[in-house]
This record gives sequence, structure tokens and C-alpha cells, in this order.
Amino acid sequence: MANEGRHGHRGQPDAPSPWTSDVANDRAFSVPRRMARAWVLCLAAALLLAGAPAIHAAADGPALGYSSANMDKRVSPRQDFYRYATGRWLDRAEIPASEPEISGFTELAIQVDRQLLKLIKDAAATKGAPGSASQQIGDYWRAAMDDRRLDEVGLKPLQADLDRVAALSQDGAIEALGRLSGQLQMAYGVSPLVNAVVTTDAKNSSANLLMIVAGQQALGLDDYAKPENQRVRDLYLDYIAQMFQSTGLSASDAAAAARTVLSIETEVSAAQLTPLQGRDPAVTYNIMTLAEAQALIPAVDLQAQLKAMGVTPPATVQVRDIAALKAVNKFLTSRKADEIRTLLRWHVLSSRAGSLGQPWRGLDAEFSRKRQDLQSSPEREREVTNEITLGLFSPLSKLYVEAYFPESTRRDITQMVGHIKDEFAQRLRANPWLDEPTRAAALDKLAKVDIQVGYPQQWIDFSPIVIKPDDHFGNVQRVSEFQQRRDLAKLGQPVVAERFASPRATAPTAVNAAYNPQTNSIDITAAIVQPPFYVPGADAAVNYCTIGAVIGHELTHGFDSNGSRYGPAGNLRNWWTPQAQAEFKQRTDVLVRQYGEFTLLPGLKHNGALTLTENTADLGGITLAHAALHRSLAGKPQPKVDGLTTDQRCFVAWAQLWAYKARPERVRFLAATDFHASTPLRGFAPLLQMDAFHKSFGTKPGDRMWRDPKQRVVIW
Ligand SMILES: [Zn+2]
Repeated sequence: MANEGRHGHRGQPDAPSPWTSDVANDRAFSVPRRMARAWVLCLAAALLLAGAPAIHAAADGPALGYSSANMDKRVSPRQDFYRYATGRWLDRAEIPASEPEISGFTELAIQVDRQLLKLIKDAAATKGAPGSASQQIGDYWRAAMDDRRLDEVGLKPLQADLDRVAALSQDGAIEALGRLSGQLQMAYGVSPLVNAVVTTDAKNSSANLLMIVAGQQALGLDDYAKPENQRVRDLYLDYIAQMFQSTGLSASDAAAAARTVLSIETEVSAAQLTPLQGRDPAVTYNIMTLAEAQALIPAVDLQAQLKAMGVTPPATVQVRDIAALKAVNKFLTSRKADEIRTLLRWHVLSSRAGSLGQPWRGLDAEFSRKRQDLQSSPEREREVTNEITLGLFSPLSKLYVEAYFPESTRRDITQMVGHIKDEFAQRLRANPWLDEPTRAAALDKLAKVDIQVGYPQQWIDFSPIVIKPDDHFGNVQRVSEFQQRRDLAKLGQPVVAERFASPRATAPTAVNAAYNPQTNSIDITAAIVQPPFYVPGADAAVNYCTIGAVIGHELTHGFDSNGSRYGPAGNLRNWWTPQAQAEFKQRTDVLVRQYGEFTLLPGLKHNGALTLTENTADLGGITLAHAALHRSLAGKPQPKVDGLTTDQRCFVAWAQLWAYKARPERVRFLAATDFHASTPLRGFAPLLQMDAFHKSFGTKPGDRMWRDPKQRVVIW
């Protein structure tokens, strides 16, 4: 469902590697993430930029989970359902100074981080055997928290790479650029020129492919040049100049260097795919020989790059974004060598600024803070916790599951998954607009969805990574390189579906659930099956319409306008008849129009096309959950609770899941890049389609929440 982000983001390409390359929903932030293998994330797109929240939001009252105390019963549910369901929470909740937003998601993420911090500190207090989880986690922590040492070593850790950049000359530059690009990808997880990553072949899910991806631009904006990005551009220029000055450049040289970087990155960002195009296989599935790919970017020797990465050149590759690759080639061939060196120097400096001592780390943090318009930066302890959560995700997740994930929860959720899946099958059988061939194919695909709860059956072995108690920078690089090598080693090997293996999206510690169309599978993490998503033994109306709806949301992703392009084995192929496709499109077109009518901020309309797949899944999720709830109650009369009927509690609980406040900067950023609807909309917009909602609250024509039955979209 979508938790991208509490793991603070600084606006520079993210740490490494393969493991993040499977995240799809997250627009713009790092190359690996944009390469987007296939995960569809759902809920909290919200969290993308979040740094490390200070502890809590709602100062008093029930912080997590459904509560009638969060409602504002003075407001009519027929006029403003969102306010009715969440008003008291909205009145109380304050966005923490170091957060861009606050929601149940953020609150849970903060709590999970507290649990993780305790595990990390316990590990640091234990003397573990070399390569053990406690040794690696404990020593990583010790080195990262040793500010004095970080300050002492200064820029030294970067010196070898800065020297390599300085040594680049125009002679023989093609080969040298290839080698350097490969070295940068291995050391920093991403190259600003060309990247080579392993991905599953979209048309043959049993084979891996090498994907060539143009260098990511540091800001992660879909297009730098847009007028609304002026504020970020100005901040960025200033940040680059200060960073260069802190390495010894004069103020005027640093300012000129900053303009060079911005101008090159702007040029490339203008050519690259939009977020929607970026996940359209019709645009990104460009299979060609390595020689053909080389012809798109003659300025960088791809053979030399692959050699530097230890990769045997394959016969064919996938080129994800042809125009962006050509744009990289263009600046490499049209700019002066000095400008190219400036860009590369910037990449080295900015990619790891957060792992250096002062002043670099402080400048980096300050840029991140200003960019998100936060009042303060996250605390250091929380930042390092997030770093370990992403970097050493496998050993830390294992400790987390042992300490905080009861087997009974896994059992309960697995059972609920069965109920929701059965409900979906029933509804597919009874669906009035599917024709028989498409219905049969849909049922087959549904039957083959593999849903796992909590944690993987097999943990990835991280023990070979050498983590030292006094070498933070080296630890960061070694973790990055381990991930790179692990990923690249998959080339030429049969595909093994790794579960819970994307640190941002599906690691057991990520507050998320995600569907992967290429494996037709769903991971529901250990971290998400806690309040507010799930409360063991709580009211069925609440549990079904929160975690049950999350499960339903993920299930229907296999059948949304993106997921439905993949068959049951995860291969890209059309299993829809033209007639069924037309029926489906007719309904989703209405969703695009309706969601495009909402206004988020003065002058800022919601984008119904960008958010279509997620809106379809939200509607499917709450529809399935509500129906499965009733099946589980088997028509038995239900008493009111808190003065609310079963249906009323279901819909209020759903809305409360989306109780949310954000800084305007955050709203604007997500509106341009997020595949999910703005969070408050998610709380009520899907409900307006449901007859049961209108019936349970007695809406009438003329009410703001009223929707004419002919305008209600029913898909599943
Ligand atoms: Zn989703």
C-alpha cells in the first residue's frame, strides 16, 4: 500500500541498489526506485519524504487505531463525512516539527522506529560473534554515532573517487567514462551517467534481464523546469554552492559550479519519462542488443562499465528510458570536460554527504529540511535507525519479527486473507460486465495470487558484510556494494522470487503491503499488522474495514489498469477480451473524471489519471472488505457499538485510517508525483460509490456526500 518514506530523504540519489529497484510507486527519488521493477505500493505514499519523526503527534487521546473519540459528531456525516469520522483527531493532531505530515501511518512508523531503536541499542550492548546480527547492527550503530571521528576523517573517504573524476580528460574519455560510471554505481548505488541493474523480464517472468537506465537527477522532480519547482531549484542552487565552497572553492567558482550542475540536471529531467510513462511497459520494455543500446549513448563505453562492475555483457538488454539516455549522451558530447567533471564531483559529494562529518552532513540535512519546509531536522538517533533499517534490513527484520510479531497475528491475518480472497472470487463469478473468457482468466489469476504475511520463509544472509565499529563511511559503502553484487549475480540465473526483500517497500519492518504483478504476489509486512491497521480481537467491523480493506486493495491491484496487463504467472500479456476491456475502461474513466474534480490547495487540482490505479484499488479494497465482513457475520443481528451500526463503524474506521495532516509543500510534491490520491480523499471518496454507505448514513439528494446511483462506480 505504500510506505515509502519515513526513511528520510535528502533529495540526492538514494543509497544503493537492487533492493530498492523493485519499488514502483515512488516517483522520483532515486534511480533504483525509479527503475521500478514492479511493486505496487499502496497506502502511505504519504511518507515518501518524511525524515525521522519526533515522537508523536496527537498529544493525548488514543493515538493509534479506531476510536469513536476521534469523531466529530457535531458534523453531519451526510455533509462532510471525513470531518465527521476524523474531526476530533484533526483538531488534536499536530505535525511534528521534523515531519512533513502526520497520519496513522506516521504514528505507526514512529512506533516501529522506537522498537527498532531498542533492538539496535540492545545489539550495541551485546558482544556478538563476527557476522552475527548483533555484531553488525551494534558496530554499525557505534561507527555512525561517533561524530568526533566522522568530523576528523572529513572528506578523506571520498578522495579516491574525487581524484578519479579529476583525472578524467577528453582523450580516451569514452572508455574512462564507462569505467568511472561503473565504479560510481558500485560505490554509491547509482551513477549519474548510466546504470545497469538486473530486473525480471516482463514477458518472461522466469528470466532475468539487464536493464540499462539513464542516470538519475538528484532532485527527483519529474521536470526541474516547471514554474512550481522554482523554490526547490533556488534552494538546490544554494545548497550545491555551499557544498562546493566547503570543499575549498571560492564563492564565485562554487556558484558557477552550482549553475552548471543545475543546468545539466534540468536538461536531462526535461527528457525523462513522466511518472505514469515510467511504469508503462509499452514505453519501458525496449529490448535490444547491447550494441544497439550502446548506439544510444556512444559517449559512455558500456562494455567498460560492465567490466568495472564485474558483469559479463549479455547479448540483449532492456533500455528503460531511451530519451533520457540520449539526453545524457547529449550533455556528455556538448559540454566542456570541466563541466562534466563538475557534475561528477557533485555526484560523489552529494551521494554520501549524509555519511560524512560536518559541515557536509549538516548542509545536507539543512537542505532536506528546507526543501520539505520542516521546522527541525530529525534527531540523529532516528536517522541512524532508519539507515540501519534500510541497509541491514535482513538481520534487523529478523530481530524485529522475533521480538514484536506474534505468530497468532500471522495466523489471524492469513485467515482473513482467505476470506477476502473468497469474497473476490464470489464477486468475479457474479460480476455483470465481465464476459466468460475474461471471467475465467480473472478467476485463474486470482487463484494463483501468492499472499504471504509477516516475514520471508528464508532470510537473506548478510553475514559476509564486514561492519567495523570505527569506519562509518566504509560500512555504508560495503553495504551498498554487497547489495549491488548480490543483485548483479542474478543475471543469467533463473528467477527466484524473493519475498519481503525490498527494504523500503516490503521488508518486515516497513509499514506497508505491496502487490508485485511480475510474481503475482502480495507481501503484508509484520510492521503493518498493528494498530491502526489491525487490533487483535477487536470489533470485526473495524478490523475488516482497515486491514481487510488493505488486503482487498492489494488483491485488486492485480486487476487494475496496470496489474491487469500481467497474467497469472507474472508475464506481460493481454488476457482481456476487447469487450471486457471496454467495459472496464468505461468505469475507470468515470473514476478519472471524478477524482480530477477535487481541489487540494487553492489552484491545485487533484490528478485523476495519475492516481487511477490506486483509486481503483481503494474502491475494490473497501468493497471487498465490507462484503467479507457481512459474510463473516452471516446475517446475525448486530448490536450498535458507540451508537454506531456495524456498517457505520466499518466506514468510520476506514476514514480514520486516512486521518491526515500535511504541510502544503508536501501536498504539492505528492500531487505531482504520487500514484495515490491525496490521503484525506482516500478516507471518503471511495465510500461515495457504495450503496451501503449511502444507506447507512441516510444521504439524500442535495447532501454534499450524496452521489446519484447512476454516477456510482462499481467495478468489483
Ligand atoms: Zn495500492
